Amino acid sequence: MHPTQAIRPMIWLSPPHLSGREAHFVKEAFDWNWVAPVGPNIDFFEVELGQYVGKPTVVAASSGTAALHLALMLLGVGSGDSVICSSLTFVASANPILYQGAYPLFVDSEPDGWNMCPEALETALRKSVAVGWRIKAVVLVHLYGMPANMQELLSICERYGVPVIEDAAEALGSRYADRAVGTLGAMGIYSFNGNKIITTSAGGALITATSEQMSRAKYLATQAKDPVPYFSHSTLGYNYRMSNICAGIGRGQLEVLPQRVNRRRQIFEYYRRVLKAEVSLGFQNEPSLGYSNRWLTAVRLMPGVDPERVRQGLWSAGIEARRVWKPLHLQPLYKDAGYVGGEVGATLFEEGLCLPSGSSLSPEDQEYVVSKLLPLLKEEG
Ligand SMILES: *Cc1c(COP(=O)(O)O)cnc(C)c1O
Repeated sequence: MHPTQAIRPMIWLSPPHLSGREAHFVKEAFDWNWVAPVGPNIDFFEVELGQYVGKPTVVAASSGTAALHLALMLLGVGSGDSVICSSLTFVASANPILYQGAYPLFVDSEPDGWNMCPEALETALRKSVAVGWRIKAVVLVHLYGMPANMQELLSICERYGVPVIEDAAEALGSRYADRAVGTLGAMGIYSFNGNKIITTSAGGALITATSEQMSRAKYLATQAKDPVPYFSHSTLGYNYRMSNICAGIGRGQLEVLPQRVNRRRQIFEYYRRVLKAEVSLGFQNEPSLGYSNRWLTAVRLMPGVDPERVRQGLWSAGIEARRVWKPLHLQPLYKDAGYVGGEVGATLFEEGLCLPSGSSLSPEDQEYVVSKLLPLLKEEG
């Protein structure tokens, strides 16, 4: 590099993108000394998120993982039960199944949207019934923000009488049949971790079907305090509520969520247009009723191109890319878990790469990413 050239700052995969309004809500919390897991920001955040997704039964939680754990508890998942879960996902989708002492049964993806394959789900349910497993829930992931094929998946689950928990951790802002994903199943969860489409620094939310479930979730998330004037506990509770400071960040972030979705979709469209012109890549396709927030642009490389080589090449150029999730049925932690499906998820792991997709990515930086990516894709081996 020529010494007069400025050193290029690192381009991250999906960094936080603040609006500036977050500090206003956080300052209010400081001014009123609401520096606790209670306070007005939490109440407002729940109302505002509920308005955005079109369902008022919202519980703000300390993380998406905590929200998912609460969902399993509310559905009565316990020791010896089984829970079906997407295999191609982050480990947090399945860990709460183990927290409850239940058995995960993983299901493969379909190659179009990369989400849970309806045929494989049907097989998993049929086989489970045949051997007498108690399937208490299905955890459906909307991978990288892409809505799963809800119509088919929900109707299969309905036929077997099994409730669906939508893991929409990556999919706030995505829609299916004109409804927010996370509100179509029996329950849904979102994550507001630092790299998600909007952030509270750390946090999550649970969407329940009824207000009774919502109250129960809040009770379980605040150490299960019985309604008496001293400390009495008859159930095992958790410390799972979002803090008032984090909720303040979230209120500022919710104001700009529609812009964040638009920008991520633009970023995806640009990648698709300029990369498709040069190389043959696969992308996640929206189902006919789906609208994705395009949280991350994930590409499927040509067979024979090693995503690890490309990832390292980009890293050397100051660009953070990330491998597609390694399917959970291939994880050492879950080596004893059941699995229904073929090699779709495993192939996506071997051929997939997530590109920088943060809503703060400038057009110039995105051009730079493409300029570094294309030669790596055209290289042999
Ligand atoms: C981020 C994520 C989670 C967990 O959310 P946290 O807020 O980090 O606990 C769960 N599932 C998926 C698919 C995620 O991407």
